[in-house]
Amino acid sequence: MHDDRKLVEARLKRVLDERIRPALYPDSTPLDVSVWTAPGEPVPVAEGLTAPAEPIAVGDRWGAPWGTSWFRVSGTVPEAWAGRTVEAVLDLGFDENMPGFQCEGLVYRPDGTPVKGLNPRNQWVRIASHATGGEQVLLHIEAASNPVLLDYHPFLPTQLGDKDTAGNDPQYTLTRMDLAVLDETVWELVQDLEVLGELMVELSEDSDRRHDILRAISRALDAIDLQDVNSTAAAARERLAGVLAVPARPTAHRISAVGHAHIDSAWLWPLRETVRKVARTTSNMTALLEDEGDFIYTMSQAQQYAWIKEHRPEVYAKVKKAVAEGRFVPAGGMWVESDTNMPGSEAMARQFVHGKRFFLEEFGIENEEAWLPDTFGFAAGLPQIIKAAGSKWLLTQKISWSSINKFPHHTFTWEGIDGTRIFTHFPPVDTYNCSMKGSEIAHAARNFKEKGRARHSLAPTGWGDGGGGTTREMIAKAARMRDLDGSATVHWETPREFFTKAETEYPDPPVWVGELYLELHRATLTSQAQTKQGNRRSEHLLREAELWAASAAVRTGFTYPYEQLDRLWKTVLLHQFHDILPGSSIAWVHREARATYAAVAEELLGIIDAAQRALAGPATGGELVFNAAPHTRAGVPAGAAAPVAPAAATAPLPRDGGGFVLDNGLLRVEIDGRGLVVSAFDLSARREAVAPGTAANLLQLHPDFPNQWDAWDVDEFYRNTVTDLTDLDEMAPAGDGTASVRVVRRFGSSSVTQLLSLAPGTKRLDIDTEVDWHETEKFLKAAFPLDVHAERYASETQFGHVFRSTHTNTSWDAAKFEACNHRFVHVEEPGWGVALVNDSTYGHDVTRTVRNEDGGTTTTVRVSLLRAPRFPDPETDQGVHRFRHALVPGASIGDAVAEGYGINLPERRVPGTAAVEPLVVVDNDAVVVSAVKLADDESGDVIVRVYESRGGRATTRLRPDFTAAEVTATDLLERPLPSVASPELVDGAVELLLRPFQMVTLRLTRSN
Ligand SMILES: [Zn+2]
Repeated sequence: MHDDRKLVEARLKRVLDERIRPALYPDSTPLDVSVWTAPGEPVPVAEGLTAPAEPIAVGDRWGAPWGTSWFRVSGTVPEAWAGRTVEAVLDLGFDENMPGFQCEGLVYRPDGTPVKGLNPRNQWVRIASHATGGEQVLLHIEAASNPVLLDYHPFLPTQLGDKDTAGNDPQYTLTRMDLAVLDETVWELVQDLEVLGELMVELSEDSDRRHDILRAISRALDAIDLQDVNSTAAAARERLAGVLAVPARPTAHRISAVGHAHIDSAWLWPLRETVRKVARTTSNMTALLEDEGDFIYTMSQAQQYAWIKEHRPEVYAKVKKAVAEGRFVPAGGMWVESDTNMPGSEAMARQFVHGKRFFLEEFGIENEEAWLPDTFGFAAGLPQIIKAAGSKWLLTQKISWSSINKFPHHTFTWEGIDGTRIFTHFPPVDTYNCSMKGSEIAHAARNFKEKGRARHSLAPTGWGDGGGGTTREMIAKAARMRDLDGSATVHWETPREFFTKAETEYPDPPVWVGELYLELHRATLTSQAQTKQGNRRSEHLLREAELWAASAAVRTGFTYPYEQLDRLWKTVLLHQFHDILPGSSIAWVHREARATYAAVAEELLGIIDAAQRALAGPATGGELVFNAAPHTRAGVPAGAAAPVAPAAATAPLPRDGGGFVLDNGLLRVEIDGRGLVVSAFDLSARREAVAPGTAANLLQLHPDFPNQWDAWDVDEFYRNTVTDLTDLDEMAPAGDGTASVRVVRRFGSSSVTQLLSLAPGTKRLDIDTEVDWHETEKFLKAAFPLDVHAERYASETQFGHVFRSTHTNTSWDAAKFEACNHRFVHVEEPGWGVALVNDSTYGHDVTRTVRNEDGGTTTTVRVSLLRAPRFPDPETDQGVHRFRHALVPGASIGDAVAEGYGINLPERRVPGTAAVEPLVVVDNDAVVVSAVKLADDESGDVIVRVYESRGGRATTRLRPDFTAAEVTATDLLERPLPSVASPELVDGAVELLLRPFQMVTLRLTRSN
């Protein structure tokens, strides 16, 4: 037989596009439309419903950027349509491309109850399934004219990303506002033909099945009268019934579909718009759940539920009902889908505490899966945190975006730094916006790397980001693929059902040890520096506020600010969302984030100050130094306060050949005539830190214009060009009696002022940097070439550190050319190392060279200070920034931990003379107190979280400085761990034996 495949395939496409789909709505009549434009920000629903509307016609322009327009549409169902299915078709000016990134609407009845969302791929509202004729229709649409920022020509700088700069030009053309008859037979025929046509082209060209489908489609097209599709659609469907009824093979890949709409909590829209995006999508999904019996929808991010609970109670009522029915499934157990690289230990823990607690309290549901489809890489501290929160599974698909190495598994066990293992699934469909296209389903089955040992994968199905979630078309297609020869099988299932099946069928999956590094979006560790500083500062202020408020509450009866801390934590957690903390949101989001972090700091400083004054007692002329760090500092124990006599510093001395020498008897630092650090000599170890012939604290400027994703990406070629900023404008001793030298440089349109200081009694060169940054598409780094021979280096992560190679032996090593650290990076030879600590930077790189002169190895650590991408915020990082770093020669990993905490928790001086004892003492510096707080249940119990910080075993006595009646080991939610024996109190203290990086949470009940 002659091969006519291409002919039939082309015929199918044209007939579907030009005849069958246009026959979906055979009759229609225009609605009357009027509009009221809200003058500024969104208004309450009641105000929008009653506002005076002006007539508007299809074809008119509407909608200034970020504006809200309330459309009122009305009409009468013609008598002639009695018995037929009638819908309103409402096209606000949608473009099918990028469904989540343009205008959207929420349809209301006149009484203010929501009907459903309007989105580019979801423009219908059901009026009557069997019309009587004569029905009066009146609907209101709250339409958001969010501008298109990412479309056919992505990543171009635009002023549309902030309402302050976006102007007032209308963004959309009203396209269709009709009442129409839906031909449900034609609609079903479209689904039949799409499923079969899309499946057919995925099958092998020599398979019987492909040709069976081809012939059936050909016969179905023959049955259609192209001038009268509506009356011939049923006949065409009959000719497809046979091939649609052939069941799947028993060995077919099994897809657990779960309805989904990945909604970024802010990104190319401000936070306030996400509240409405969630309201629109959840309205859509609760309506769809009512229509479709076996459909399951899942939504993560407790914050998004909390928003609609507060702002859209009528929508939330429907969500609560659907949750109670088990079909709207809260997932993830986190406050938001956060970044996981940058959040600190406690913050990462609290993401789960607040997320899980919300779902437990609101719905009685305990999530056991972490749900992070879109997060930009996964820190190796995360498995322990997931488990400590009482969860056991992780889902993400983001690692499929890695641009260099293909991850070898889709279902595997992920092992973190402490040895905790988490059953993990990467959906092989490689998207969190699956639309049930045949190509996606076939890709999932083909791509699945566990073939031969496992058969299940998950497909998050629906348009995200305001695209409206799952559509009725996706559900119809899934129904046809439930049991269809040639296709993977598709069943709607909850994440829990999927994980249970997947774990049962695959009890011994392969193991991946260490971080899940995303080989993309590396610049998210640096972009929007002030957002990152806001996060780091907030995390440490929260630690201080909890520590001092708990200490004061136990000692003085100070009122512990439970509600205030709960609210502040949630604010900080929200801003760790995977497009806010990473710096990939529009200018508006980051402008608001800066203001929010300032307000958070002010509130937390207020709590800290009040608690410290309560502890210090009446001010009688003296001064106490409070030490919130977890190690003794300047004689003040961790978590304590004491008077400290100021130590005398030695002023900078002139250096032969120009520059200055700082020497405190422990460390001698030479700053040359260019203001560069050419020597940092550890006097006790007789060891030089700076590699010979090089200079440390060398600022380096690179061009930085990635191929795409400007705020997200730095491409490896950025390194090919570099300018060393060695020209000096000013250098002088600070002149304040300290061992400090001030250095000023100007470059491009920018300037940098640095203060290099050597405090008495430390081996730490403090570097305070102020940059007035006015560059475009540049990357600023500070380089520290160290005379250290090391195969690997340590970067702090949650509850420990992770090692990465200093070499580029493999493509996996080479791909990590920019990576994340928390408070320190540490390199060492046995017995001697160097730490570089910071107060707010995350990005860094470490490289190695071997010197010709002496054969020694130079390990260069560079911290990433600032970038200047122009999309999505065209003014990213313009202005003044301040950073603190310190170079610590001779540092062990324990010193790195301590100095890292120290630089982030500066001492505070408070009037008072009576020393304050620590509330809790641990007697081993390897064991770090991560949090001291009162229990969230307001029982007055003290919660203490500790971890082993160096990667070894540690024993310690933990002694509360109050009488504890009982001590209980708990999970992160402060619930007793039934499977773990609680430690015993012996002489008022607790003996702990910790594994490497083990984290333990204890609840200490106070005696009355
Ligand atoms: Zn996202």
